[in-house]
Amino acid sequence: MELHSDHILLQMLMVLFPIILHQALLNNRKLEEKESFYWGMVFTVTMGLCLAFAIKIDDGVFLDLRMVPWFLGFIYGGKAVGIFVTTFYVVVRFFVGGDGMIPAFIVLLLGSLVIWRFRSYYLKWERKKKILFSILFLIILSSLIPVFGTILLDKSLTTSRLFINIGFVTTNAITLWLAVHLMESYQEKQDLVKEIQKNEKLQVVGQVAASVAHEIRNPMTSVRGFIQLLSASKNININEKNQLQLCLDELDRANAIISDYLSLGKNPELEQHAVLDITKLATRSVDTLTSYATINGVNITIDACVNAYVMGNNGRFQQMLVNLIKNGIEAARPNGYVKVKVSMIDQQVEIIVEDDGVGMTPQQMENIGLPYYSTKEKGTGLGLMVTLQIIKEMNGIWNVSSQQNKGTAFKIYFPSVKNE
Ligand code: ADP
Ligand code: MG
Repeated sequence: MELHSDHILLQMLMVLFPIILHQALLNNRKLEEKESFYWGMVFTVTMGLCLAFAIKIDDGVFLDLRMVPWFLGFIYGGKAVGIFVTTFYVVVRFFVGGDGMIPAFIVLLLGSLVIWRFRSYYLKWERKKKILFSILFLIILSSLIPVFGTILLDKSLTTSRLFINIGFVTTNAITLWLAVHLMESYQEKQDLVKEIQKNEKLQVVGQVAASVAHEIRNPMTSVRGFIQLLSASKNININEKNQLQLCLDELDRANAIISDYLSLGKNPELEQHAVLDITKLATRSVDTLTSYATINGVNITIDACVNAYVMGNNGRFQQMLVNLIKNGIEAARPNGYVKVKVSMIDQQVEIIVEDDGVGMTPQQMENIGLPYYSTKEKGTGLGLMVTLQIIKEMNGIWNVSSQQNKGTAFKIYFPSVKNE
């Protein structure tokens, strides 16, 4: 009954090697869709190896690092992979048999329940918290095995057995610490690559758009001026006047699109920031869109009766809100509604724009904010891109929840300031 260091090192290597190999070799992004399946396979094989090379302590009592791949598979592969690795473990352990089987099963069941409950939270935590949670979790879980073993199997706790168990728990913790670090830095790298690619696209679009849009705007301004002059003439009848008004409206629409383009290339640092009265501005944005809502047969309401102030640029803020409300109106069902709500939550101003319209699929939600992404016939796919940019400039955060054919809710949060 001894715990050799070479056995332990072999076990550690078996767990960590596939993760390191993956980082070193597989840098392609094709894997993305099958990623959970891939990790499921990797961790199942790793677990199999751990079990095959388990260190035999006593008759029927084995020590190995199988809990590490089991944990990683469950967390990073998903619940399906979790069920798979757990089942695999149970089956293998059953055939190995021995005294340690029952305590191992009990611990595994407890652990699975905990992960099942906390997995979704875990994925949102930052790295430090993840590491802390995983290590604590595994220390508790791996100490439970010998504890249950001692109680259930009625084996006396000798000093050497105690030392072995402490060594076993420590090795588990160290290996998991390394593994989670590796997995997290891999994930961070993936996210960074995605972010960079997105930003690059945005920058190119912004620059090209800004230069083209600027050139178009000048002739448009003079055309608009002449049409206005013309519509003031006494020699035209009411019909012709209406047609000229249509011209003006369409020109304004084109101008609004160009504004979106131009604001992509803007440098937010050069703009004037001031304290904005959100209730006032939101009410004004809703007012400007009331006629648009009426044309579309949509009922628009606003619920804003709080003193909410944030730092930002007046025009940019309105542009953002108008974009969101417009999308709501365009999505809403006939006789549907768009609700705008402003409220204070802790030290934050919460703005919700909600509609009962067509909603989005998860796939569509992924594409939100990408340049030219639009599902509308006359859409530009620029509105949300500008909107998200403005939210970022104002240090805000946003999230969207949407269900197909049920509706969409955009929620935005800004740090509030005092109005002096
Ligand atoms: P556009 O409105 O010109 O299509 P946007 O950037 O404003 O461009 O929006 C991009 C796409 O996001 C829309 O085409 C639509 O598919 C989706 N979308 C945005 N807001 C909503 C909403 N409230 N409900 C459903 N889909 C929406
Ligand atoms: Mg839009």
